[in-house]
Amino acid sequence: MVRFARICGTGDYVCEECGTAYHDLETARRCEDFCRTHHACSLEIIRHAAHQPSEVPSTGS
Ligand SMILES: [Zn+2]
Repeated sequence: MVRFARICGTGDYVCEECGTAYHDLETARRCEDFCRTHHACSLEIIRHAAHQPSEVPSTGS
């Protein structure tokens, strides 16, 4: 399930499979579907990323 995170003061949607953040929910969902199905990221989708996984703070313990 795509989660919502605040990164650098903006709200972004994060693919839970790969941790990449997107400005729009639709793209985040597409990424997550692709990641789950193929166990890899789509370069076509990921180039729309707002933030790479290394920039996304992990939530919770
Ligand atoms: Zn993904």
